[in-house]
Amino acid sequence: MNRFSALGLIFLISSLFGCTQAAQDVHETRFLLGTLVEFTIHTKDEKTALKAISKAAQVMQQVEDTFTTYGDVDNTVKQFNQADVAQAVRLAPEVDKLLLQSISVHQQSHAAFDPTLGVLNKLWGFSGEHLSKKPPTGAQIQQALAQSGVQNIQKTEQGWVKKVQGLALDFGAIAKGYAIDQGIQVFKQYGFTQAIINAGGDMRILGQHGDKPWRIAIRHPRQSQALGWVQVEHDTSIVTSGDYERFYIYQGQRYHHILNPDTGKPAKRSQSVTVIAPTATLADAWSTALFVLGSEQGLKVLKKQKGLSVLWVNADASLSQTHDFQMRDLAHKTE
Ligand code: AMP
Ligand code: MG
Repeated sequence: MNRFSALGLIFLISSLFGCTQAAQDVHETRFLLGTLVEFTIHTKDEKTALKAISKAAQVMQQVEDTFTTYGDVDNTVKQFNQADVAQAVRLAPEVDKLLLQSISVHQQSHAAFDPTLGVLNKLWGFSGEHLSKKPPTGAQIQQALAQSGVQNIQKTEQGWVKKVQGLALDFGAIAKGYAIDQGIQVFKQYGFTQAIINAGGDMRILGQHGDKPWRIAIRHPRQSQALGWVQVEHDTSIVTSGDYERFYIYQGQRYHHILNPDTGKPAKRSQSVTVIAPTATLADAWSTALFVLGSEQGLKVLKKQKGLSVLWVNADASLSQTHDFQMRDLAHKTE
């Protein structure tokens, strides 16, 4: 064999090898946004996928730093929360945008979603480092409610102002979804078309898993076995709000982290709500709003709210859903 044909053979073998190398799941897990975040990209290009995952994790960490009301990092949300009445605070552009989106969900959900519950959320103490073990008193709840409410904030030319002393913003019900969307944006910029970012059960998916839709299990709010599963594909998000995520039992009653802005107490109509929506931001905000509303009111609100598929596990453990939410039961493994 002469030198050229030997080179040709090597080229042929390597290109054949390149063609047959199958796509695989490139997978990494990081601790972000107070939870384990799993990144998966289905691709042949592991090296670029790992770069994209690192970049996505970095972008999601920035979102956390921009919105968090905990820890030492300074941000404009904390600046607003510490400001006095009528003192205008310029929020970072991302915060401004998400606050406007939150106010829009507030209006559409008949005030079930409220981004101004910072004082109330801290009073209940589900999100700090130490979980409370005992509910606050009625007087404490009333005082915290007086320091909340979207009607008590206003956007002016100089920035956002609060109308009552102490009022604090809290993006805990929407920022995780927003962070997932930003992570997926990074994957898209890298050109990946088959991927998933799963932040503690809240996720956005791209494309398919190989040549099949992604299959997502839905957690049972009271049992370790899944409730069922759904098939999702292309660019879709699926987010669940549940009363099992952060809770304690006091004198036989469950107290959890999703609060009804009407009563100032944990919302009682649902055990969990799963929302499928085009973005994780929307799915996150609406899963919280529809949890508070419960299925009866929630289904009425959804008549005006297109593009959301929803499943409730109601307080009495019965199921309600929009007609397009297709949950498969566990026996139904192939379809
Ligand atoms: P999620 O787990 O997405 O349903 O969000 C719950 C978190 O959002 C809580 O830990 C609070 O920080 C905040 N939150 C609680 N109740 C509400 C509500 N009714 N509207 C908006 N945010 C809320
Ligand atoms: Mg939410």
